[in-house]
Amino acid sequence: MVSEKQPIYVVPENVQRIFGQDAQRNNILAARIVADIIKTTLGPKGMDKMLVDSDGNVVVTNDGVTILKEMEIEHPAAKMMVEIAKTQENEVGDGTTTAVMIAGKLLENAEKLLDKKIHPTIITKGYQIAAEKSLEILNSLATRITTDDDYTLRQVAITSMTGKGVENVKEKFANIIVGAVKQIEDFGKIDLNNIKLEKIKGSSIRDTEIISGIVLDMEKVNIDMPKSVEDAKIALIDFSIEIKNPDIDTKISISTPEQLQGFIDSEERALRGMIDKIKKTGASVVFCQKGIDDVAQYYLTKNKIYACRRVNKSDMEKLARATGGKIVSNIDDLSNEDLGGAKSVEEVKQGENTLTYVTGCINPKAITIIIRGGSEHVMDETERAIMDGLGDVSAVLKDGMVVSGGGAIEIELAKRLRIFSQSLFGRERLAVEEFAAALESIPITLAENAGLDPIDILTELKAKHDEGMEHFGLNLFKGNVEDTFEAGIIEPLKVKTQAISSASEVANMILRIDDVISSGRRNKEGRMPEME
Ligand code: ADP
Ligand code: MG
Repeated sequence: MVSEKQPIYVVPENVQRIFGQDAQRNNILAARIVADIIKTTLGPKGMDKMLVDSDGNVVVTNDGVTILKEMEIEHPAAKMMVEIAKTQENEVGDGTTTAVMIAGKLLENAEKLLDKKIHPTIITKGYQIAAEKSLEILNSLATRITTDDDYTLRQVAITSMTGKGVENVKEKFANIIVGAVKQIEDFGKIDLNNIKLEKIKGSSIRDTEIISGIVLDMEKVNIDMPKSVEDAKIALIDFSIEIKNPDIDTKISISTPEQLQGFIDSEERALRGMIDKIKKTGASVVFCQKGIDDVAQYYLTKNKIYACRRVNKSDMEKLARATGGKIVSNIDDLSNEDLGGAKSVEEVKQGENTLTYVTGCINPKAITIIIRGGSEHVMDETERAIMDGLGDVSAVLKDGMVVSGGGAIEIELAKRLRIFSQSLFGRERLAVEEFAAALESIPITLAENAGLDPIDILTELKAKHDEGMEHFGLNLFKGNVEDTFEAGIIEPLKVKTQAISSASEVANMILRIDDVISSGRRNKEGRMPEME
């Protein structure tokens, strides 16, 4: 018989369990901390974060998802917050800070309700009702634009890039972004994989440009190869063009100089055979994902073939897409039909860099944006700004729907949610009201981050919206409250719908947890790091 004193272990001894209110509060706190961390980066006046990893690598960014990805977040609830940012990034490419902040605020406000002894089930129910209603209201508030409305598309690009260090070149970047997305659009389908972003260090971000075709940060393997090839037939190869290193185990017994020569000759013959096969397909350019050794380079040069080696996999895929060629893994499979085509393949020297331009591709939808800049950090942040712009402009081109930025849409949505809440009975109403309040954290934070008084701004905004001016928001170019749509601060509807749905989903998921059972790793003190 088990004596009464003896503990009963249902789960192994090293499993730690937190439940009930403790679990809830602990999770909410962790999630709020995540939101708090990125809060100061929101909006055009948001600050940047400098992240240093254990190897001393530095990233300076204003981008929510980048910050969260770079941080080593351990707490399970905090990790769920990071997931929202990643989802937002994958679905739209922008609005990551907004999504995480709304989730954080929903949880903060839920805590107020928990303090009033409102059961989590009621809160999650209310939040769910509010989220659904929000999507409906957002759709009714959004403005439809036509796909040829380049002005609005450019403003969407500019709004998404504001605060990301490209202020002085935003017009130019907006043109590049809108041009790029329009070029790859294919009957309403937009695959951003068609756009290659190539960072080339040197000059300034002002010299960032868009090229029709693929640009590789690579030179031809041999200086005597042709500098350019017209009407190029391109072989895309992912096997190495080298003499196979005799496997470690292979033993070659050579006892005379003639035998050695014979061995070298046979290897050379094999290589020459390979190049002959490539030549026979009609290829005039070779992009090889692996190595090309000296002897092979010599034969390629002799055959006037332009070749690059160690082209990375994603570039190979982009080249295949652009030139209509097929990546071949075995020399015996390579045939004329696998070759891609481009009007020109050319080596271009630019300052310290030597690049390969593949232009006039069979598929005109392939383009490269060459990002230039004086330092890696500047180029990285510029790349993130451009990615946000590309994401936002393609979101708008897909559904044609935009909303006014600078907190205008959030204020209007909150107002309408509050009106809607009047029609509800029971305590869910309180949750819907808290949901509305959570949305107001966006304009509040935009104001705070710009050093403006958030209470004044919120009061003024609410007053304007009560007067029916639904596009009034905060214009941080001027620091005042006005019609942000007219001021050209415009965002895709999709950023807002996605942010609200994923934020409310995660907030509800976290609220529904009342038991955290963790096993596994413990730190030196014997505590589980996840639980701290
Ligand atoms: P996110 O990661 O959520 O996209 P951002 O730091 O990019 O965060 O900030 C986006 C917010 O900044 C949006 O609410 C947008 O409306 C606002 N915003 C952009 N430009 C302006 C501006 N000129 N004035 C006021 N708010 C702006
Ligand atoms: Mg943004």
